[in-house]
Amino acid sequence: RSLVAAEADGDERAVEAALRPRTLDEVVGQVRVREQLGLVLEAARRRGRTPDHVLLSGPPGLGKTTLAMIIAAEMSAPLRLTSGPAITHAGDLAAILSGMNEGDVLFVDEIHRMSRPAEEMLYMAMEDFRVDVVIGKGPGATAIPLEIPPFTLVGATTRAGLLPGPLRDRFGFTAHLEFYEPDDLDRIVRRSAGLLGCEVELDGTAEIASRSRGTPRIANRLLRRVRDYAQVRADGVVTRAVARAALDLYEVDASGLDRLDRAVLDALCRRFGGGPVGVSTLAVAVGEERETVEEVAEPFLVRQGLLARTPRGRVATPAAWAHLGLRAPAGTWA
Ligand code: ADP
Repeated sequence: RSLVAAEADGDERAVEAALRPRTLDEVVGQVRVREQLGLVLEAARRRGRTPDHVLLSGPPGLGKTTLAMIIAAEMSAPLRLTSGPAITHAGDLAAILSGMNEGDVLFVDEIHRMSRPAEEMLYMAMEDFRVDVVIGKGPGATAIPLEIPPFTLVGATTRAGLLPGPLRDRFGFTAHLEFYEPDDLDRIVRRSAGLLGCEVELDGTAEIASRSRGTPRIANRLLRRVRDYAQVRADGVVTRAVARAALDLYEVDASGLDRLDRAVLDALCRRFGGGPVGVSTLAVAVGEERETVEEVAEPFLVRQGLLARTPRGRVATPAAWAHLGLRAPAGTWA
């Protein structure tokens, strides 16, 4: 992975945390989601009740964790964080749920990756605030019902469609987060620069915003790399020229495609003649898991008009060929 795509290290994580909006008012963009969620929370507050369960879907880095933290903060409730892959047994979930207090917010990231038995336990917990804890094995096993105080589950998933219907139906409010427009990303970059005490020019932040892949997390990460460059190789000010030079150095292209995005396009055009090709085949070609290609790379490529999902497989659009500097073979695009 390139530097820019690399997982944040410890310090970087602390910086990322410092840049998180703390209240709904600080959240940039996502106007509709903010208004809808604001109403859900305000109504619950007035009734003195725990808000309904909330499902947040959308690609990584668009603000799902941030919103979960804000839900807890706005309700003045503690937040507990876990993730689907961490809950391998129903017992793991029972342990978490039995430690909850009334009004607590439980955030389950990647909720679609929870094990089946845990999922079934969660249905009951969400609906009846009760779980059956099974003690022992085989014919001697007994189920002990356990009451759980009312809590709010906030589930996050890359695509709501990955959840089984019964689980999806138990959320009272579902929000889908979309990629951000350059204007919103620009506001996020300027807000972050202010918090970091970094001097920026308007066309400098616009340059970062336009290469951020529609994603706030990436916008903040690129800002940090550009800030490094500005401090070491220039006079500390993020101008357009500084932003361009830094982003070129880190191989973020002008459309913001990252290494995986480019690898997918490259395989699609060069190895599979532009498709149609199945997503699993494409994933093998780029050495990634199918889910990563489907849930991380594809949504952005589709939105950029570079890739199309057809019933017969994935197809490169004329723009994809152009992006790679290649000529589309005649007759590949109907
Ligand atoms: P997800 O959980 O969807 O992967 P996060 O909530 O962790 O994404 O967001 C990643 C980073 O992007 C956060 O550190 C936060 O600073 C920033 N961010 C996300 N959404 C927004 C937003 N709407 N406004 C400002 N910053 C945001």
